[in-house]
Parts: sequence; structure tokens; C-alpha cells
Amino acid sequence: MPIRRLSEETINRIAAGEVVERPASVVKELVENAIDAGARRIEIVTAAGGVALIRVTDDGIGMAPDDLALSVERYCTSKLETGLERIDTLGFRGEALASIGSVARLAIASRRAGSADAFEVSIEGGTVAPLRPVSLPAGTRVEVRDLFFATPARLKFLKSERAEASAITDIVRRLAMAHPEIRFSLSGSDRTATDLSAATGDGARLHRLSELIGSDFGPNSLAIDAVREGVRLQGFVGLPTFNKANSLSQFLYVNGRSVRDKQLIGALRGAYADQLKRDRHPVAVLFLTLDPAEVDVNVHPAKAEVRFRDPGLVRGLIVGAIRDAFAGTGPRSSTAAAGATIAAFRPLGQTRPLRPIPAPASFRPQGNVTPLRGFAEPAQAAFAARPSADARQVAETAPDDLAYPLGAARAQIHETYIVAQTEDGLVIVDQHAAHERLVYERLKKSLDTRGVPRQILLIPEVVELPEDDVDRLTARAAELAGCGLTVERFGPGAVVIRETPSMLGNVDAAALVRDLADELAEWDRTTSLRDRLDRIASRMACHGSVRAGRRMKPAEMDALLREIEATPNASECNHGRPTYIELKLADIERLFGRR
Ligand code: ADP
Ligand code: MG
Repeated sequence: MPIRRLSEETINRIAAGEVVERPASVVKELVENAIDAGARRIEIVTAAGGVALIRVTDDGIGMAPDDLALSVERYCTSKLETGLERIDTLGFRGEALASIGSVARLAIASRRAGSADAFEVSIEGGTVAPLRPVSLPAGTRVEVRDLFFATPARLKFLKSERAEASAITDIVRRLAMAHPEIRFSLSGSDRTATDLSAATGDGARLHRLSELIGSDFGPNSLAIDAVREGVRLQGFVGLPTFNKANSLSQFLYVNGRSVRDKQLIGALRGAYADQLKRDRHPVAVLFLTLDPAEVDVNVHPAKAEVRFRDPGLVRGLIVGAIRDAFAGTGPRSSTAAAGATIAAFRPLGQTRPLRPIPAPASFRPQGNVTPLRGFAEPAQAAFAARPSADARQVAETAPDDLAYPLGAARAQIHETYIVAQTEDGLVIVDQHAAHERLVYERLKKSLDTRGVPRQILLIPEVVELPEDDVDRLTARAAELAGCGLTVERFGPGAVVIRETPSMLGNVDAAALVRDLADELAEWDRTTSLRDRLDRIASRMACHGSVRAGRRMKPAEMDALLREIEATPNASECNHGRPTYIELKLADIERLFGRR
């Protein structure tokens, strides 16, 4: 279809587009144009974070001279033939090239497939120069130089070159994930080069994703392919155990368009709700395909949010398909969680009227026919078969310890929970959650007072990380040092850790630094210093704490209980989960039908 001008009415209906916000948005528009042009190979070159240069070259269909001249005029597009109600290309507003041309020096060279001649149009600060012949293989080459030279105020709002370069990387990653059939290369004086080879057929997508997310994504993910009422969901989701400290590894697409839509992110979260702790995030790459008439992509200037005609259907599809995928991979931790028993357990100090408690499913004899008293045969057999080794840490305690709010430690079970006896019941403490809270409070206290004491590592630890993470960590080195962690750049793809906060003990420094890099990636300019330090402290506490799975001595357990009692906010861990729960004797008696 030839390029033509949209009607005034259509122009007005189109949301005012802030198309050119930063270099990465230019890259996005240009690469999308190349994809829309049917390219099989897209080459992107940048300099100085894209401000000095962005060059995108493709081998797509190209433009005939007349179209080339029109392409830089506002609202001129070859794509909106089906109307705004049915958008099936990435571009549609016909304003990207014109907008870029109004704020930068833009040159577009193009040769239409099948034609022998190539031409170039250039535009500088909005003034278009006449076409001139150039030499070019079939396809299009768009060159943007000196971005925002015409609008210096915009330049001030840009972040560092490095940050802009990394935003470009992110955009290219998102686009490349959706198009394994296209070869992408990204290079330039401001970055290390990436080349993603094209592939088609089975495994092509997962191969591309592994190149972009990491080779461990493949073995740790499940394929999704489900359809509900004409809406299709495809992609890969990480196993719950393969989780991250932030949500930056969630890539969602609607009809091939990368979106950061709250509803979709919410649905993803919902699918993992029973499987992940609140502060952990799944890794997922999901593609929704539906009739373009069922979704409005024109609600957001950067087209990042979408509106579905039937949001419930889409949510149900996402949650259902992911849960089905989990269910298909063998037994997972049961989510039934013995609801009634949990209802009887409650954080200390809370009073709630008790109600009769039916036996939890896991206690119920098979067949559900035997009354509560006594275990039926199968359950008894299971009990007998299990050695009592789980409850091996039996503490010897003075009887007066029972008077403490958290009582006297009696046992450690599953190397994770401390069971303590109180005067009128029992308390179960999540040792990791509780200790984490204590370390966190201690860290915050020393931040506020004399600074966090550090210990020098005998052998400094070198941790390899993606370049972006290295940048973020080194940019925050002073704040990290304030929290007791000394980190320095060690070449482009690594940092070296020299000191760790002493109160964390023998911490896995590499894991801590990786997690902190994830955390830093989530910060924006509005995160205050206090907030930043708190968040660093919180991550550190998580790593410096007695991990679930560590055997504790009776005296250690009692000491932990006493410290919890003495620490403010200790009934919840830093993530808002309870650190201990209590079950009153009365509740236990109810469970056994004694009341
Ligand atoms: P839109 O993509 O919304 O149509 P643009 O301003 O990005 O608007 O592009 C205007 C027109 O220029 C497109 O509709 C297309 O016809 C043409 N065009 C832009 N880039 C390319 C390219 N790389 N290859 C072929 N045609 C292109
Ligand atoms: Mg476009």
C-alpha cells in the first residue's frame, strides 16, 4: 500500500505521542519499522548512549523514492489500512520519523526490493532536503545524529551515556525476544557488541531467550501454550525456584508488542502466588495473541499499556495456563496448607475468637470416614516408618523459661523451625525469617550510629556479572561501603568484593552482590538515600541470616528466642511475613476433639 496522509479525524483520535523521549525510544521506533518492513537482519549501531549516533540498517522491503519523501512527514504511514480498531503492525501513527527529524539530524537511505536505485532523504531540525541518489543494498538505513540538538532542554533530562546505552540494550532485547527469526546485531563505541543469530522452527524461541536471559533459563523453565476463547498464550515461564529479587525478568507481549501492563503483571504474580515469597519475582516471557479488535494498544503514548475488551478472560488464561504447567511437573508443595489449622495458629498477642476447627486435610485419615480420634492405618504406618530423627534437637531447659513470651526452645524440626513451649501453648519460629529481622534491625541501628563494621576478606572475591550490573554496583559503591560492603569494578564484566559487613558472618558474598545488583536495578531517581540504605540492609540481612536448613544447638535457639523478644518489630520479617506463630493448648485440644 502506498503512503498516504491520515484524515484529520484519525489524527485527532490518536493519542498525542511522546514518541521521542530518549535515545532508546528512537531505537525502538526504528527497529519496529524494520520489523514491520519484513527484515531478516537488523543491525543497530550507537555512540554516546545513542545521543551522538543511532544507525539502524535492515534488509526489509525498502521504500520507493516517493514514499521515502513522504516517510518523514507527520502522520504519513503505510500501515493503518485496516483502521485504528484493528492494529496489527508495530507502527501505525506515522509520526516517528517526522518527530525524530524535528529534534535530530536524520538521514534515511532506502532501496525498494526489486529496484536498482537507492535514494536518501535527510532532515535537520524539521527542514527536509531534496532526495539524492546513494548506493545501498536492498533495504533501509536510518541514521540519527546529534539527538535533541534542536531541543537542548531535552538533553538535560537524559541520564548518563551509560544508562542511556543500557536502556537501548533493554529495548533491543525485548524486541529480539519476540523475533527469533530475525538476526539482530547491536554494537557501537559505547558498548560491547552483541550478535543474535536467526533461527526458525522448534526450539528457536527458547534458544533466543537463553541467549538473552541466560543459559540456565532453558532447564529451569516450562513451555506454555494454551488457548481460551480465541486468545492464545505462548512462551516460557521459570520454575518457582528460579526466581529473582526484582521483576525485571518479566517480558510480556501482546500481539508481538512488548508491554509493561499492570494487569498482565498482576496475573503473572497471581499464577505464582502460592509458590513464591512476596519479595521474590518469577522469570517469564509470555506472548499473548488475540484478535486485534479485542485489544486497544492506543491507550498509552509509548504503547506500553493495553486495554483488553475482556480482561477477566486474559487473566484467567494466564493464571490457569501457568498453574497447569506447574501441575504437570510432578508434586509441588501443597497449597492447601491445612487451612483450618493455620487459622488456629496466629501471631502472638493477637486475640481472635476461636471457632471449632475441623481437622486439616493432611491429618485426616484416608477415606475421610474415621472420626477424628486416633489415626487410621495408613497414616499410622506413615508415622511409624518415619524415624524420629527430625525432632532430634531436644533442648534441656529450666522450667522457668516457660514464662518468657516465646517460651523455652524444645526442638528444631526440619532444620528450619524452632518449636518452643510456652506456659499455655506452643510457638513455632521460622528461624531464618526471625534471624533476618534481627540482623536487619542491628544493621539499621549501626547505620544510624557508628557505621557498619566491616571485615576484610582474606581472599577478595571476584564476581562475574552483566555489564549493566557492574555499572550499577560501582555507581553505588559509596552507599554499599556505608553498609559495610566494599565492591570495586574489576574489568567490564566483573566486580571484586574486598570487605563484607562483619555482622553477616560468613556470608556468600557473590550471591549477596548478585542480589544487590538486582535490587539496585529497581531504583529510580525518586528512591531516597534513607530508603536505599534500608533496602540494601534488608537484602544483606537476608543473606547474613541463619538459613533454613541449618542445625541449631539448644542454647543457640534459646538465645534467638530471647533476642526476638528484645527486638522491635520482631514479629514480622523484613518482608512482612510472620517470624513466629503460636498455637494455644486450647486449640490443640480442639484439634483432637478434646473440647
Ligand atoms: P509508522 O511506523 O507509524 O507508519 P513511521 O514514521 O515510523 O510511522 O514511518 C513512516 C513510514 O515510513 C512507514 O509507514 C513506512 O511506510 C515507512 N518506513 C519507515 N521505516 C521503514 C523501513 N525501515 N523500511 C521500510 N519502510 C519504512
Ligand atoms: Mg514506525
